Amino acid sequence: MTTRIEPASAGSRAFQLHFSVGGVASFIKQGDISARISHQTTAMEGIATHQALQKQRESGCLRESGYEREKTVKTCCRIKNHELLISGRADGFCPGSNDSLPWVEEIKTTRLPQVAIPIGIRQQHLNQLRIYAYLICLDESLDKIELRLTYAHPDTLETEVYQETMSQGSLKTHFTKLVEPILQWFEQRTDWLAMRNESLNSLRFPFGEFRPYQRDIAAAIYRNVATEGRLFLQAPTGLGKSMASLYSTLKSLPETQAEKIFYLSAKTAGQASAQEALIRIQSEEPALRSLSITAKRKICFNPEMPCDPTWCQFAEGYYDRLPAALDRVVKSRGHWSKARVEALAREFSLCPFELSLDAAREMDAIVGDYNYFFDPRVRLKRFFDEEQKGHYPILLDEAHNLVDRARDMFSAEIGEATLLPAMQETKTQHKGLYTAFKRIARALTHLGQVSMNSGPEQLLNVIDLEPLVNAITGLLTAMDATAGELPLPETVMKSFFDLHRFHQTYEQLDEDYGCLLSQGDGTRVVKLNCLHPGRRLKKIYPLASSLTAFSATLSPKMYFQEMLGVDEHARWLKSPSPFDARHQATLIVDFIPTHYSARVGSASSLVSLIDQMITLSPGNYLVFFPSYEYLQIVAEQYRSAHPQRPLAVQAPGMGPEAIEGFLAQFQENSVCLGFAVMGGQFSEGIDLQGQRLKGLMVVTLGLAPTSAAQDALAQRLVSNGQSPTTLENDVSLRRSGYDFAYRYPALQKVVQTAGRVIRGPEDKGVVILIDARFKESRYIENFPEHWRPEVVKSAMIFEEKLKEFWS
Ligand code: SF4
Repeated sequence: MTTRIEPASAGSRAFQLHFSVGGVASFIKQGDISARISHQTTAMEGIATHQALQKQRESGCLRESGYEREKTVKTCCRIKNHELLISGRADGFCPGSNDSLPWVEEIKTTRLPQVAIPIGIRQQHLNQLRIYAYLICLDESLDKIELRLTYAHPDTLETEVYQETMSQGSLKTHFTKLVEPILQWFEQRTDWLAMRNESLNSLRFPFGEFRPYQRDIAAAIYRNVATEGRLFLQAPTGLGKSMASLYSTLKSLPETQAEKIFYLSAKTAGQASAQEALIRIQSEEPALRSLSITAKRKICFNPEMPCDPTWCQFAEGYYDRLPAALDRVVKSRGHWSKARVEALAREFSLCPFELSLDAAREMDAIVGDYNYFFDPRVRLKRFFDEEQKGHYPILLDEAHNLVDRARDMFSAEIGEATLLPAMQETKTQHKGLYTAFKRIARALTHLGQVSMNSGPEQLLNVIDLEPLVNAITGLLTAMDATAGELPLPETVMKSFFDLHRFHQTYEQLDEDYGCLLSQGDGTRVVKLNCLHPGRRLKKIYPLASSLTAFSATLSPKMYFQEMLGVDEHARWLKSPSPFDARHQATLIVDFIPTHYSARVGSASSLVSLIDQMITLSPGNYLVFFPSYEYLQIVAEQYRSAHPQRPLAVQAPGMGPEAIEGFLAQFQENSVCLGFAVMGGQFSEGIDLQGQRLKGLMVVTLGLAPTSAAQDALAQRLVSNGQSPTTLENDVSLRRSGYDFAYRYPALQKVVQTAGRVIRGPEDKGVVILIDARFKESRYIENFPEHWRPEVVKSAMIFEEKLKEFWS
C-alpha cells in the first residue's frame, strides 16, 4: 500500500489518496500468516521470471497482435467525497482480435504448484488481476475481458494458468467491494490526519528553548522536507539532532501533507533515542501516534518455530483476529514501544512482528532499522513502492553507518558452518536435498583446494564460482520436491536462505563486487562482497519523498558522496558546534610508537601516560584500542603497575547486561578507567554526560588490517591503476583508493569515538590521540572544525598541557 494524502482543492476537506493496485488487492486479508510462499522465491527472481515470460510473449505469435508488457493503469474514482487514485502496471495486455477476446495477464513467480499456494494468497492475486482487468475495461471501453493468472517457476519457466472471462459489470462489482473498506478506513484516517495536523500546528518545542545552532538545523531540515530534497547534515554529537529532526519534520506535515514519517537508525541506541524524543514530544499530548518496529528475531514469541500456522499459534488465524487489535490501535495516542506492541499481541494472540507492520498504517511516525528502507529483501514494500515516486520523508540517523550497513545488505556468503549441519539434518529423511547439499559442499571444498596456497583470504574470479553456483541451482531445484510439505528444520531453511541469497547476488555481480574465499579457521566461506554500495543506494533514495541524513562524521565529503552514491543535487550542510571549543583539549602524542612491532615495547610508556592523565585530574576515562590483542597487552601492563586500581575492560561479544554493567561504573563522582576497542559498543551511541566521562585516549589510527577485500576496493576506486601501496605514499593524491579503503573509514571511527567526551554545554574534557601520524595534514584537515589539536612531544609537555587545561 502506498498512500499520499493531499488536499483535493484549496480549502476543501476532501483528500486525495494514492493506492497501488497491489495495495487495494491486499487491504483485507483473511486466515493465517504463512511463510511457505515466501520461502520459495525472491523479488529478484520474480523480476527475471517476468522479463523472460514477457519476452516469450513478445517474440511469439503475439508480436503482431499489439501485446503490451507492463501496461500502466490509472484511475480516479470519486466516492464519498474523496478522490481515490489507483495506479499500477499489469504484467501483460493483449487487445484481442475479431475472433479472440482481449486478455490481461498477471504473472506470479513461485516454486509451489498452484494447489499448494495458500488460498488467501491466491485470492489476493486474483483480486489484483481483477482490478487491472476492470481498469483496462474502463480505459479501452471493453465489455468483456479474459483474465489469466499465470504461476511461473523461476528455474524452468514452466507455467500453470488460471483463466476466467468477466464482464465489465461484474468486474465493477468486485472492484467496489474491494474499495469500500479502504474508503471506510480512509475516512477515519483523514479525520485523524486533519486533527493531527491541527494539533501539530500548535506543537511547541518540548525543551522550550533550542540549543545554539539546533534551531538552524531544525529549520534546514524543515526546508528540506518541504521541498522534497536530499540533505546531508554534519552536526556535532550532543547537539540534539534526533529531537531537532523529528520535531521539524513533524511540524512540516501540515504543509507537506505527508501521511507519516520514518526515522531510521542502524543501531538500537539510535532507535532508542528517537523513541525517547517522540515520547517527549508527545508529553504535550498532541494527536499523534508513533511506533518502534522491533526486528523479528527480537520480538518473536516463538523464536524456534517457522512462521507457519502448523507450528505457531500466533500465525494461525492471524488475519481474522487482526481487525480487533487494529481497532484498539486506531483509538490510541502516544508511542507504541516494543512492550506495548507485545502486550497487544498477547491479548489478541497475534504475531507481534506482523502486528507492528500492520499497525504501521495507523502511525504518523515510525522508528526502525535502515533495513526497512534500504534492504531489498526486507524493505517495507507497503510504503516504499518501486513503481512510484516516494511519498514519505525519511530521516537517517548516524548516516556514516550506511556505508558498512549497505555493504552487508547487498552482499551474500555461504560457508561450511551452515552447510554441514543442513547436510546432517537431511541425510535420512530428505535424500534429494542431502545429495544437493553434498554437491555444494564438494564444490566449496574443491574451490578451497584449488586456492590452497594463496593465503587465508583471497579474491576469486567470477568464473571460478561456476561449479559452485551450478550446485546451488541444483539445490534450489531439489527444494521443489519439498514444496507444500511441512516446513523443513530451521538449520536446513537457514542454509537454504543463505544459498538463495547467494544465488541471487551472483546474478547481479558487477564491478562493485569482490568475490572472496576465506578459509582461515578451518572452515571455508565464499563471500560475494559488495565493496562499493554507492550505485545501488542511489537507486533507492527516490523511494522517499525527501531524505535527511545526519551524522557527526560526514567528512571528507567526497568519501561519503562517492560511497553513499549521493548525486550533485543533494545539499551538504555543516553545523558549527554549539559547545565552547575551549572545553575540549585535543592533544596529539607523537612520542609513543604504536606500530605493530613496537606495541609490547611501548606499552609501559602508554601506561605511564594513562596514569599521568588520571592523576592530573582524577575522574572517569576511557582508552580505545584498535584491537583486543593490543588492549590486552596494555591491560596486563596496567594491572601489574597499578594492581589496586579498578580497570573495566571490554570483552568480545558483550551482551546488554554486561554493557550496562560496564557503563554503570562511570558515575558522576567515580574514578574509573575503562579499556575498549574502537568501532565497538562503547565507541558510538553511548552518552556519558558531565563528569561521567572526563576524557578519552585513542591509541593509534585504527586502520583496518590489509585485506583482499579492502585492497580490491582500493583498486576499484583507482582510475589510473596504481597500486594501493603507491597511493599510500602519494600525499597529493587525495582521492586515492587507499584513502577510501583504509584511511577515511579509520578517521571516521576516531572522530566518532572522540565524540563521547563533550555531550552537553557544561561538559569539559580531553581527547588524547596517540600516534605521530595524527599530526599529518591529511588527518588534521578532516578533524571537526571545533577541535584545536596540539602536538605534544614529551611526557613533560603532556603534563604541562593538561595542567593548563584543567586549571
Ligand atoms: S510469533 Fe514468531 S514464529 Fe510466530 S509468526 Fe510471528 S515471527 Fe513467526
